[in-house]
Amino acid sequence: MPTIDAALETQLDRTKDTRLESYKDFLRIPSISALPEHADDCRAAAHWLVDALTAAGLENAEAVETGGHPIVYADWLHAADAPTVLVYGHYDVQPVDPLDLWTSPPFEPVVVGDRILARGAADDKGQVHAHVMAAGALLAARGTLPINLKYVFEGEEESSSIHLDRWLEAERDKLAADVALISDTGFFEGNRPAITLSLRGLMYAQIDVVGTAVDLHSGSYGGAVQNPANALAQMIAGLKGPDGRIRIPGFYDDVVALSEADRTALASLPFDEAEYQSNLGLPALVGEAGFTTLERRAARPTLDVNGIWGGFQGEGSKTIIPAHAHAKVSCRLVTAQDPDKIFEGFRAYVEEIAPPGVTTTVQYLGGGLPSLTPIDHPATQAAARALEAAFGQAPVYIREGGSIPVCASFASILELPVVLMGFTPPDENAHAPNEWMDMRNYETSIRAIARMWDESVDLPR
Ligand SMILES: [Zn+2]
Repeated sequence: MPTIDAALETQLDRTKDTRLESYKDFLRIPSISALPEHADDCRAAAHWLVDALTAAGLENAEAVETGGHPIVYADWLHAADAPTVLVYGHYDVQPVDPLDLWTSPPFEPVVVGDRILARGAADDKGQVHAHVMAAGALLAARGTLPINLKYVFEGEEESSSIHLDRWLEAERDKLAADVALISDTGFFEGNRPAITLSLRGLMYAQIDVVGTAVDLHSGSYGGAVQNPANALAQMIAGLKGPDGRIRIPGFYDDVVALSEADRTALASLPFDEAEYQSNLGLPALVGEAGFTTLERRAARPTLDVNGIWGGFQGEGSKTIIPAHAHAKVSCRLVTAQDPDKIFEGFRAYVEEIAPPGVTTTVQYLGGGLPSLTPIDHPATQAAARALEAAFGQAPVYIREGGSIPVCASFASILELPVVLMGFTPPDENAHAPNEWMDMRNYETSIRAIARMWDESVDLPR
C-alpha cells in the first residue's frame, strides 16, 4: 500500500486493533430498518454513531428525530476559506433471511482470511465506519482537517428514505456545502477502485384501456368492436421503433450526450459481452442502435413494459373480447431528463396513437431524477487522485443503471454535485446471505477518504 501521509499512517497502524473491534461493535447492532421490531436497534445504531463521531473529534453530533429512524448529523467546520464536503452513508441494513444460508450469524461479525462477514459489513456500515475512522485518524495525527465536513448518516435507506427529503429541505441552510460525497457503491471488477459517475432516474406510468362494462362474446361481437387488449398491444408496439429508439416526441431532447471521454471510459471497462449474454441464457442482446451494451444498460434512457394484463388468463380457452386491458410502463432516465416532463410526453403520445373505439387513460405512478457528475468535474478528479494514491491504481469510471434516490435529492434539494466513491467488492453479497467486506479494501478506503480531503482543498466553492 503506498504511503499517504507518515503521521496518518503511524496513527492508523497504532489503532488497527481497536478499529476492528469498533467496526465489529457497530456491525453487532441489528439495525434492520424495514422491520418494526428492530426500531430500537436502529436508534441504538444511530446513538452508537453519535458517540463514535464525537470520539473521533467531530462536533455537534446528534441523532435527529424525523418521525422514523433518526438521521445522524455531525460536522467539523474549522477550515476557514476551505470547501465544505457533505458525506452521506446509511447505518440501516437489509433483513437477513434466509438465515439458514448464512455460514455464521449475520450480527456476529467474524473475520475469515481477508473477509469480514456480517450484515452491513459492506452496505453500508463498513463504509460509514471507514469515514468516521478516517476523520478520527486525521484529527489525531494533525489536530486539524484540510476542509470542512458535514456528515449525514441515514437510517432508512433500505426502506425508501421516507423522511430524508423533508429533513434535507428543512435543513437546507445547515447542510450548505460545495460537494456531496456518497460512499454506498462498489467496485466494478476485482480490487480496482471505481467512481460511479451517474445513476438513472425513473418515470413510471400505467395505461388503462376500457371498452365495454363486461367481457363480450367474441363470436357475437368480434369484428364490430374494438378489442382493448389488441388496442393496448398496438399502442405498446408504437412506443419503440425496430431500431430500439423510443418514439415519444421530444423524449431525447434533454439527454446529455455521451462525450468521447465517456464512451472511451465505458469501452475500457473489463466487460465480456459474450459471457454476459450466456449468463443470461439469451439468444441475443438487443437495444438502441448505435450504442454498446454497457452504454445502453446505464447511460441511455429506456422504455420497458413491467406488466401487462387483461382478458382471460385461465387454462383452456374462453372466447371473449376483454372489457379492459392494462399495462405498467416505466422509463429509466438519464441526465437531464425530467420525469414529470417525460410523463407528459408519454401521456400525450399514447393518447395520440390510441386506437378509436375504446377509452384510454394514462396515469403517473411516480418518478425520480437521474444524476450525473461528469468525469472532468473537479470533485470527480479529486476522488480519482485520492483513489489512485491509496489503491495504487487509477479508478475506472462506471455508470449505474438503477437509482440511488438520495443522489437526486442532494442534487435537486441541496444543489450539490455528487461524487460516488464506494469501496465494496463487486461480489460482496449485499442484501443477500454472507455479506462481506474485504478488510484490505476497508483499511485502504480509510486512506483514500483521508487523501480525498487533502485533494479537496481546491474544489470550486
Ligand atoms: Zn446501501
